[in-house]
Amino acid sequence: MAAGSNRLSPQRCRHAWLAVLCVLSASAFARADQSLEAQLAETSELAHYVPEKALKTLLKLDELARSAATDTRAEYLAQLSEARRNTGDQKAAIALAEESIALGKEKSSPVALAKGMLAKGEVMLVRNELDESHQLLWAAEAIANTTADLDLRVQAMILSGQAFAEDGNFPAALTRLQAAVALARQDGKPLPMITSLNALARLYRQMKEYSKGADTLKEAMAMATEINSFARMASLLNTEYLFAMETRQQKRGMEALLSALELQRQIGDTATIDITLVNLSDSYLKQKDYRNTLIYASQALEAARLFHDEAIEATAYVNIGEAQLGMGRLADSKRSFETGLSLYEKSGDKPALQAVLLEYGAALEQAGDMAGAVVAYHRERAISEDLFEKQRQKALWELQGKYEADKKERQIELLSRENQVKTADIDNRRLQQRIWWLLAIVFALAALIVGILYRKIRQTNAQLEVKNLELKQQSSRDPLTSLYNRRHYQDFMRTHSQVEKRGAATAGEEMVGALFLLDVDHFKHVNDNYGHAAGDAVLKMIAENLRVILRETDMIVRWGGEEFLAFLPAVARSGIDDIAHRILTGISAQPVDYQGAAIPVKVSIGFAPFPLAPGGQSLTWERAVNLVDMALYLAKSHGRNRAYGVRGFANFEKTTMEEIEQDLERAWRAGFVDLSVVLGGAAQTDAVVIEPEPALA
Ligand code: GH3
Ligand code: MG
Ligand code: MG
Repeated sequence: MAAGSNRLSPQRCRHAWLAVLCVLSASAFARADQSLEAQLAETSELAHYVPEKALKTLLKLDELARSAATDTRAEYLAQLSEARRNTGDQKAAIALAEESIALGKEKSSPVALAKGMLAKGEVMLVRNELDESHQLLWAAEAIANTTADLDLRVQAMILSGQAFAEDGNFPAALTRLQAAVALARQDGKPLPMITSLNALARLYRQMKEYSKGADTLKEAMAMATEINSFARMASLLNTEYLFAMETRQQKRGMEALLSALELQRQIGDTATIDITLVNLSDSYLKQKDYRNTLIYASQALEAARLFHDEAIEATAYVNIGEAQLGMGRLADSKRSFETGLSLYEKSGDKPALQAVLLEYGAALEQAGDMAGAVVAYHRERAISEDLFEKQRQKALWELQGKYEADKKERQIELLSRENQVKTADIDNRRLQQRIWWLLAIVFALAALIVGILYRKIRQTNAQLEVKNLELKQQSSRDPLTSLYNRRHYQDFMRTHSQVEKRGAATAGEEMVGALFLLDVDHFKHVNDNYGHAAGDAVLKMIAENLRVILRETDMIVRWGGEEFLAFLPAVARSGIDDIAHRILTGISAQPVDYQGAAIPVKVSIGFAPFPLAPGGQSLTWERAVNLVDMALYLAKSHGRNRAYGVRGFANFEKTTMEEIEQDLERAWRAGFVDLSVVLGGAAQTDAVVIEPEPALA
């Protein structure tokens, strides 16, 4: 049985050539003046091939290392762990690896963390705890890749690639190992190059890519030869042996192993020499050279026992058993086989155990021990079934795991979908809220605008009302005197055709309305002598005086140019002449003062009570005004500054209203009309009633 391990422990040394020299002069390690890092560079290679010597040196550095920088300390711990592992102290090796992991966590150093994980992963591998080992190595690779430490990254890639190969995932393994070679080539250091090439070559063998494997191996060998690393050459020769066996070149394989052995003996390799030895015994066994098989197997056993390399020990026992059987020493053979088998059982390497049992059964059968052969086959069957059961179980677990994973994925998908729905719902609600807000704002704005518009309209309406009022006033007032104009009076009389008699009716007094029509005397002279503006001032003053003389309830109208009409709605019939007199004297009392000039003003008045009802028939207001106008004409023609009032009618059956209207004076003289004459002027303050004069004609 051959040592089938494809594993190589990747080195960390930066100065590979030193490794060989160091072996030759162990005293070099003790040199006190060497810096810790330089010393670690030297012990690196040693820890792999001559671990007990490395251990001695490393332990001396312990104190120095523990106070060193984190990454240097991690390198120290990694080397010490490897030295412990290679000298068979797995427990100490794990403790050191965990110390590095803890250091990495404490100091947040990915380098220390990755180195610790790699070291632990390698111990797990020796313990045949493959799953845990692989997980650690893959995780370590991921962490190492975050660092700038190229040596560490190459080492992690190699170990991760080998883990993938062990797991049967050749594509992943190939990717890692090719990447490791590329990175090492880029870095240009020979040792990482040789290690990664060797690992790649062994993978090619597993993949049965022999020519690629041969090329790779050749390149590695050339490099190892160039730097004169015996340890590396020996390791590569072991790889060459595996290739030779695969291609049934027994002689070439043997030669490779013998060369490797010689090199390893020269450098005092204690850690990997057992592999060469057991492979040699296997090689001799295949040639049925039982003597040499026993010799090399015994040597392998001795080397393996030194550091508790139980896998090599087991293989060596089995090879011894086979040789003894070949030599006819059945009892010895059985004992050797059983020892080997128990070691395999102890290591838990069931596939190896199964293979050995098959070999054992065949050997016993050949030796004629049928009963023994049957027992061996039965044991093989049991293991096979156990393995099958385990595989079935594993497949079941994987299936279950996959089912669980699918289930979880579905759950996650469901949850995320639910989440999406919820998110959409929330979005929707938010949108709705936003719309409501917008609507509220729009409504508020609209209300505001409506409010503003409403206020504006109200203001405008109020303004309009004022304007209308003004307009109405303008249309009903005379702009110069602010008295009512003629049109207003006409409107008023039309709507108040039935003008009531108002005011308090004192005992025996008949209350009537009264009309006074005034005309300024010789007004033309005022305009002519003082100017038109003076004339305006006079008109304004007359209006003012009329307002003072008359009551507020009396209606004063600018009737025309310099004519005014006053309508007094309620006066005592007997007081009308007095009012005429009051007007005459009131207006003429004070000359109008215009720009220093005192303008005397006098008026003539025609007046009558209203309504007038000659013969019991009420006259229209137009006819009444016409009659008053005629009276005014009389006042003018009889000397001005006086008032003529129609007091009443007599013998009305002998005349007509038309006749009277044609000539008031004649009707007065004929006694049909009763007129009162009131004279103005300063001398006559009392009302003078002039009796009708005798008829002229
Ligand atoms: P009489 O005593 O016969 O009434 O003489 P009079 O000059 O007053 O009469 P007349 O009708 O001949 O003249 C009236 C004048 O009044 C003519 C016109 O120029 C003037 N007048 C009419 N309206 C106005 C006005 O608003 N302002 C001014 N300054 N003069 C006016
Ligand atoms: Mg006139
Ligand atoms: Mg006049």
